[in-house]
Amino acid sequence: LRRAIELKELELYYQPIVHTDSGNLVAVEALLRWNNPAMGMVMPDRFIPLAEETGLIIPIGEWVLEEACKTAVEWKDITGRNIGVSVNVSPRQFRDPHFTDAVMQALGNSGLAAEQLELEITERLILDNSIETAEILRLLDREGIRLSVDDFGTGYSALSYLKSYPFDTLKIDKSFVQDVMKEPEDASLVRAIINMAHSLGLRVIAEGVEDESQTHFLKAEGCDFSQGYFYSRPLPATEFEEWLKTNQRVQI
Ligand code: C2E
Ligand code: MG
Ligand code: MG
Repeated sequence: LRRAIELKELELYYQPIVHTDSGNLVAVEALLRWNNPAMGMVMPDRFIPLAEETGLIIPIGEWVLEEACKTAVEWKDITGRNIGVSVNVSPRQFRDPHFTDAVMQALGNSGLAAEQLELEITERLILDNSIETAEILRLLDREGIRLSVDDFGTGYSALSYLKSYPFDTLKIDKSFVQDVMKEPEDASLVRAIINMAHSLGLRVIAEGVEDESQTHFLKAEGCDFSQGYFYSRPLPATEFEEWLKTNQRVQI
C-alpha cells in the first residue's frame, strides 16, 4: 500500500448520483479501488482502515482529491456541462493540518469550481466535537465547497450538530434504503429523515437504490437525489464516459 501510488495501482471508480424525479445525472461519487497484482482488486473497506492507521490515507487522500477534480473537469470539457464530484474524507485526513490546503490545491490545479466539489464526511468525524472540526468545516463552507454527511443514521444520535455545522446534504445510509419496501419501520425512518433534512434546509441523497420500487417510494417522499446499482454500479472512468454517452440525461 505504501508504494501503491507510485506504482499506479490506485484507481477511482465513479458512481452516478441522479435527480430522483427525472433520473438526470447531477454528480458522481469517486470510490477508490486498489488494483494489486498479487491480491487482485482490493475494495476500500479492506484497505482504508489500514491506510488510516498508518497515516498513508494522507497521501492517498490527496491523490484522490487531485484525480477526482481533474476528471470532473475533463467530463465538463467532453459534455459541456457541469458534473459535480463527491469525495470521501476519513477522520484522519480531515485532522491533518495540511488538509484544507490540499483541497484548495486540488481545485486550483484542476480548475474545478468549488461548488462542484462535495466532501463526504461520516458522523464518526463529528463525534469528536472539537473546535478544530467546526473551524475546518466552516472554512471549507466559506470557500463554497459542499459538505455532506455520509451514512446518515448509523453513527451518532445527537442531532444538534446538524444546526451548528454548515452541511448541505444528508446521505441516507443504504441499510435504511434497502428495506424500504419490506420493513415499514425503515420506510418511516427514511420518510422522517427526508422531512427533517428539508426542514433544516438540507438536501437528501438516498444511497443503495437497487430496484425500481424504491425509486417510486423515494419520488413520492420527495427525496432529492438517488444513487445505487439501479442507476449504475461504480465504473472506471472510461466506462463511465460510455455511460454518459448512452444515458443522454446529463443535466445542465
Ligand atoms: P460510501 O462512501 O458510503 O460509498 C458507498 C458504497 O456503497 C460504495 O462501496 C458503493 O460501491 C456501494 N454501493 C453503491 N450503490 C450500491 C447499491 O445499490 N447496493 C449496495 N449494496 N452497495 C452500493 P465501496 O466502493 O466498496 O466503498 C466503501 C466505503 O469505502 C465507502 O462508503 C467510503 O466510506 C470508503 N471509501 C471509498 N473511497 C474512498 C476514498 O477515496 N477515501 C476514503 N477516505 N474513503 C473511501
Ligand atoms: Mg460516500
Ligand atoms: Mg455511504
